[in-house]
Parts: sequence; C-alpha cells; structure tokens
Amino acid sequence: MDTLEQLTREARALANGTPISPAEAELGRVLQICNGCRYCEGFCASFQAMTRRLEFGRADLHYLANLCHNCGACLHACQYAPPHEFAINVPRAMAQVRGQTYGDFAWPAPLGALYRHNGVALSLSLALGLALFLWLAARTDAPVGADFYAIFPHNLLVSLFMPVFGFAVLALGLGVRDFWRAVTPATTGAPVSAPAGAEAAHDVLRLKYLDGGHGEGCNNADDAFSLRRRRAHHLTFYGFLLCFAATSVATLYHYVLGIPAPYDWPSLPKVLGAIGGVMLCVGTLGLWALKWQRHPLHGDPSQRSMDYGFIVLLLLVSASGLALWALRGQSGMALTLCVHLGSVMALFATLPYNKFAHGIYRSAALLRHAVEKRQPNTLGLGGE
Ligand code: SF4
Ligand code: SF4
Repeated sequence: MDTLEQLTREARALANGTPISPAEAELGRVLQICNGCRYCEGFCASFQAMTRRLEFGRADLHYLANLCHNCGACLHACQYAPPHEFAINVPRAMAQVRGQTYGDFAWPAPLGALYRHNGVALSLSLALGLALFLWLAARTDAPVGADFYAIFPHNLLVSLFMPVFGFAVLALGLGVRDFWRAVTPATTGAPVSAPAGAEAAHDVLRLKYLDGGHGEGCNNADDAFSLRRRRAHHLTFYGFLLCFAATSVATLYHYVLGIPAPYDWPSLPKVLGAIGGVMLCVGTLGLWALKWQRHPLHGDPSQRSMDYGFIVLLLLVSASGLALWALRGQSGMALTLCVHLGSVMALFATLPYNKFAHGIYRSAALLRHAVEKRQPNTLGLGGE
C-alpha cells in the first residue's frame, strides 16, 4: 500500500516536472499516518494545517515543514515513534524537508548547498578571511587611544558594508518571494488580511509554537518540558534586533541629524548596542548548550553544521563587539575591530543561507497559515 501510494505521488510530481525527493516522500508517508491518528492535532500550526488536507503535494509539504518549529513534542507523545515499526519521527521528517527548501529557494542555489553542508567551516573561514583582509588594509599607524574611525574611515566602512548588506537583502527577498509563490496556491490562494497579518506577527514575535502547545515549553534532551529553548531564541532574536537598531540609529545620527560617529555612553546607539550585544551573547551561548544536549532523534543530523555555523557567527559578532567596547583606545583594539567587522560581514553574506533565512520562511508560512485558517475548511473533518 505504501509503495503504491509513493509511486502515485512520484508519478504525479514527475508529471508536474518536479521529481519528489526521498525526504518529501517520507514526510508524505508520516503525515498520512498522523492524519489518521490526529493525537497531536492541538500541538502546533503544522498539525492544524495538516487536518485541512487529505493529500500532501510538494507545496503542502514545503508549507507544513516550514510551519514546524522542531519543538520535539510530537516525537515524545507518539506511540508509533521508533522503535515502533511505523518509525514515525515527525520533527526529523519536517526538518529534512525544511532543509531541502532552504536549498530549493536559496538564491543563488549553489551557495545554499555549499553552506548547508559546511556551515561551521564556511562561517569561520569567511569571518577570519575577511578579518585578515581588513587587518592588511587597516591603518596600523593610528595612535593608541584613537577611535575606530582612525583605523577605518567611516565612509570606507560604509562602502564595504553596503554591498554585502544589499546582497543579503536581495538574496533573501528573492528566496522568500519564490517560497511565497510556491505555497500560496496550496493555502487557498486568499490574500493577506489585517487580522491574519496581526496574528502571524504575534505568533512570530512570541515564538508561540515553542511553548509545546500547552505553555510549558518544548522537549530538548528528553521527555521533560522546558522554556529554555524559547528564552534562548528570544534573547538571540531581540538581541540581534537591538544591535541592528543601534546601527540604524547611528546611521540616522551621522547622515540625517549631522551628529558624527563615534558615539559614547550613554548615547542611544551605544545603549542599544550594549544591551543587544549582551542579549545576543547570552542567547547564542544558551542555544549552543541546548543544541549540544538535544535528543538524538530530534531534527536532521545533516543540518547540524549549518545550525552551529550560524550560532558561531552570532557569538563571534556579539563577543567581539563587547570586547571592542572594553578595549577602546587600547593596543588590542585594531585587531579586535578587524575580527568584529570580518564576522559581521560574514554574518550578512551568509544570512540568506543560514538559520536566519529559516526564520523568514517560517514567518511567511505562519502568515499563510493565519490566512488559510480564516477560509472555510472544505474537508469538514475537524481541525481548528
Ligand atoms: S506524531 Fe504520532 S501520535 Fe502524533 S499524530 Fe502523528 S502518529 Fe499520532
Ligand atoms: S516538532 Fe513540534 S512544531 Fe514540529 S510538528 Fe511536532 S509538535 Fe509541531
């Protein structure tokens, strides 16, 4: 039966010109069983969206996989999980298809594949390579006690960072546009309404689906519920936003208000950057520790390098930024500045291919979910 079903799905996908992958076939098999069982239907948006479907085409699988937050709850609740012969592992099947979508929708695609398999090595070599390049280009004759802009003039920094930032925005924009176009017809095709947008924003900003569906948190190392993963994600996410806000406010000060950089404590850019840097540092250390302790059946082991690559870069950016503050005006400042700028550049260059892109696709999937759930359920078999 399974083989016939799989062959039918593959034939349909081939007729559409898109061969179904082994990961997609496995997620389709798992979801057919879950759709009959429905024990987990209240856990998260993925299960709610699943109950509106009897069949799972390629776009449905991509949509459902990106709705999953990999909280692990459905693995620990499942009576058919390994070693049962059904071997139902929803978080892993979702993660494998999700990982595939990062490659499918990445622009340009070869960079996505390269990062996926060599995340840590690529992140570190890019950050250190750029730091070395900056060190060679730095004005090493700047006197001890001088500020950052005696080493790299402000305009030079802007001309170095703007193309990298522009590339990240363009690549991410093209990727999410293609993802949106692919999943919209599979999610009723209805346009986004204000209430749907507000609900999706609320769910994204609160990381609602890391609460395990009951508010006690997700599973990490074992059956126990914990909110630590949600808190570490919040610290990382809001720390990153505060650091970005610090840079944006500094740009506004410099170019619009005519208050030239650098800025000292307690100016707004400095306060935002310091609080954001500490939050980012603590959050990424927490994510690293939680990932290290993660249950071996959670997620997709082949994506570990990509996950750690992103965490390493965020940690390097935040730790070097805080060290730079402590070393300002001292002899180690120039080298620390090169490491900081190199890691920030590497972070932006890899944003379209790392976990940041996954956050953007997940937000798009949550928005489609908020739209879809407001449309009539044509199956009439349950769900929301
Ligand atoms: S994960 Fe297991 S328990 Fe949950 S719906 Fe699927 S088959 Fe049922
Ligand atoms: S791992 Fe969590 S978020 Fe993903 S499908 Fe299972 S319950 Fe939902």
